[in-house]
Amino acid sequence: MERKLIDRFGRQHDYLRISVTDKCNLRCVYCMPEEGMTFEPDEKLLRFEEIAEVVRVLAGLGVRKLRLTGGEPMVRRDLEKLVAMLAAIPGIEDIALTTNGIFLAPKAEQLRAAGLTRVNISLDSLHADRFRLITRGGDIRKVLDSIAAAERVGLDPIKINVVLMKGMNDDEIADFLRLTLERKLHVRFIEYMPIGHDDEGWKARYLPLSTVLERCAELGWDAQPAEAVYGNGPARNYRIAGAPGAFGLIHPVSDHFCETCNRLRLTADGNIKPCLYWSDEFNVRRYIGDDRAVEELFFRALDIKPQNHEMAQALASAAQSHTPTARRMSQIGG
Ligand code: SAM
Ligand code: SF4
Repeated sequence: MERKLIDRFGRQHDYLRISVTDKCNLRCVYCMPEEGMTFEPDEKLLRFEEIAEVVRVLAGLGVRKLRLTGGEPMVRRDLEKLVAMLAAIPGIEDIALTTNGIFLAPKAEQLRAAGLTRVNISLDSLHADRFRLITRGGDIRKVLDSIAAAERVGLDPIKINVVLMKGMNDDEIADFLRLTLERKLHVRFIEYMPIGHDDEGWKARYLPLSTVLERCAELGWDAQPAEAVYGNGPARNYRIAGAPGAFGLIHPVSDHFCETCNRLRLTADGNIKPCLYWSDEFNVRRYIGDDRAVEELFFRALDIKPQNHEMAQALASAAQSHTPTARRMSQIGG
């Protein structure tokens, strides 16, 4: 009988998030410092062949969905080759990409042809100046072009990731909601997470997502719970009456979704992370080529997967049962 990736709490894992690099062409304020980041040397990153080997083993254990992330996955040369290698693995049904969208437009067609099914594009402001400030230098036109290119080549659904930050972009909630009235886009508001930050700076900007529904009600827009948009694990979904698009609220901090967590993470340097938030990691690289050893390492990682990430305790400055990761979000992949 096929073994499945089921943990101590009965959660079955069919989803792997793969970070393909820790490097990025941007320096978003909530993700990386402006200066002083050090990156893994290229030889420490898993090669495409190694990533595909790991995925082949995991597909035999029931993994069906993949997401490529980073750092910025599009800075890894020939990403479409990796997509094609992964799409050819029996059992893999869905390959998604999370990107900042700066380099996507010219490559969208090729990625789609290689087997990419859908895309999440991060966009935290609709104003060019503010976008440049948040990303420390990003050109919003390129991102908007990428969204249009993704629509054109038929990547579906297209999700727009918006990290909500108090005093930074919370005055744009209505504009993001309006996008869903105009286009078939799925806007996902994400709570700002305390990863790789000093606690006080994070708390000053943190905003619970109840703000989005309050804003919607103030505007007189009737937001009804909506069906899940494909691949939308942890989001609570809504649609404004008559809108072609939808929106989702991802509350990792205030309303964690750990009880239905079906995901494992693989960092660019080959570490299995059973939980986004905790420090536990298992490096798989030296086992690649020995399928049984790779399987066993994933089962070991699952064995210590915690029931809950406990980020809410960080908000309340309360004690936590594990050590939070020392990695930044760009070194995990979100
Ligand atoms: N570079 C790509 C991008 O920005 O989409 C992929 C990697 S990025 C780490 C993945 C997602 O994590 C992005 O949507 C980003 O906005 C989000 N993210 C980064 N730091 C975060 C934080 N502290 N809290 C919440 N989301 C965060
Ligand atoms: Fe780069 Fe994405 Fe982090 Fe922004 S959120 S710095 S684009 S990895």
